[in-house]
Amino acid sequence: MKINVHEPKSGIHSLKFRIWFTFIAFALVIVMTLWLFQVVFINGYYSSMKEKTTLSAADEVKQLLTTYVNDEDTLNTQMYAAANKYQTSITIINESTSERSTYPFMPEIAEDGGGGRFDKFVVKSAVSETLISELKNEINANGNGEVIKYYEESSMLIYGGSLTLNGTTYLTVVSSKLQRLDEVVGVISNQLIIVSICLVLASFIASILIANRVSRPLNKITEKAQLLSEGDYDVVFDERHRGNYVEISKLAHTLNYATNGLKQVEKLRAEFIANVSHDLRTPLTMIKAYAEMIRDISGDDKEKRDKHLEVIIQESDRLSELVSDLLDVSQLQAGALAYDPSVFDMTALVEKVVSRLDILCERMGKHINVNTTESVYAVGDIKKIQQVVYNLVTNALNYSDDSTEIDVAIEENENDIKFSVKDYGRGISEEDLPNIWDRYYRVDKEHKRSVAGTGIGLSIVKSVLEMHGTEYGVESQIGSGSTFWFKLNKPEEGEDEE
Ligand code: ADP
Repeated sequence: MKINVHEPKSGIHSLKFRIWFTFIAFALVIVMTLWLFQVVFINGYYSSMKEKTTLSAADEVKQLLTTYVNDEDTLNTQMYAAANKYQTSITIINESTSERSTYPFMPEIAEDGGGGRFDKFVVKSAVSETLISELKNEINANGNGEVIKYYEESSMLIYGGSLTLNGTTYLTVVSSKLQRLDEVVGVISNQLIIVSICLVLASFIASILIANRVSRPLNKITEKAQLLSEGDYDVVFDERHRGNYVEISKLAHTLNYATNGLKQVEKLRAEFIANVSHDLRTPLTMIKAYAEMIRDISGDDKEKRDKHLEVIIQESDRLSELVSDLLDVSQLQAGALAYDPSVFDMTALVEKVVSRLDILCERMGKHINVNTTESVYAVGDIKKIQQVVYNLVTNALNYSDDSTEIDVAIEENENDIKFSVKDYGRGISEEDLPNIWDRYYRVDKEHKRSVAGTGIGLSIVKSVLEMHGTEYGVESQIGSGSTFWFKLNKPEEGEDEE
């Protein structure tokens, strides 16, 4: 049977596309982050770093000046060292004498220790008179004694601060050159273009490879599952394909398991249909044959006619029993029958079932012994429990072979009641025991009219007892008989019999 279900279309929702898209998006995010930090933000980052160094240099200059204001030689050496350390030029102006000392940043001086040789060397630096008066004005306007400014045209970052020591005011100027980064940024940009292209290309290729590796086995599984859905139960899903991911192997394993289950059900179903058609055909043939006999032969002979009619009635009963069994099992399995519990007398129920089987017992030469006549109350769905008892007792009759006795027992325990039915017939082998509760399962596969059965009686028993949530089971030994049993809850105090 081919089931037509709406098949999802591949496209933007496919696994392949998603993996590919994620990879490319990830690569683009990385490329963009690189561009932002290496190209867009670099100027801002560089200036703020320079500003920090300049301020640190200014702090050190103030400290040195305070410490060595009276020791000119040490002051000079230390100032040169500071200028080199922070890569800045330092200028100190004594405001009362207008004496100016400049310590420029000169890397080659730093190497041989610096200091001394350039004493009071007046460098024509960015620190011009106009600049100095401008700085002074700003410091005064500022009120906190210092100012830091960036001069666009000379690319200089200049700090100015005033410091008063022993009544003399000094103006300290620290100037750092801001390098033009355009050239560097240009080089980085070129490199970034290459890196970006490589990155996007690499992720494109990697994503396609990975997506294929994931989707190929999935597609294979889908193809086979399609075959399965078309009724081919011989498909085998590839569990150990080299390079498969564990999850996919697990999926394949689960599908193989499901396929085996389906195969089994299909086999049992085929057997069941064979059994049922046989079971239906036999009574029908009998009914037809006896009806014809009445028409052609025994119509006027009352005694014979009644005998023939009796057969017809029996066979019709058998037919309707079979059909109602089939209905019950399908309804139970579909969960269509509701659980309707009440308190009832188990002994009375068993007696009712046994009396229904009186004629059959007589004909088969069997005898059913019930251990008690006293009322034993239980809680359950009375109609369904009746069916369970009926199925178990008829099974005991059907499979007891030459033995004549069937023992039915109702025991009352502290918390529950236990019903059991024991026969002394053929018993069930250990390997069949776990399967007898399955739908359509029959130990004796050959169909014998003497034991009419469809293999659904015990599956009804199982469904009903599971619906009740009670324990049930069977003990059996091949050759010496079986005991089928189940338990039911006792009514709680206050619960009344209906
Ligand atoms: P059936 O209609 O064939 O009796 P059931 O579901 O009632 O179907 O039972 C399934 C199988 O279990 C039977 O075919 C039979 O082989 C085995 N079985 C059930 N009850 C007994 C029993 N009391 N003794 C031996 N075998 C039994």
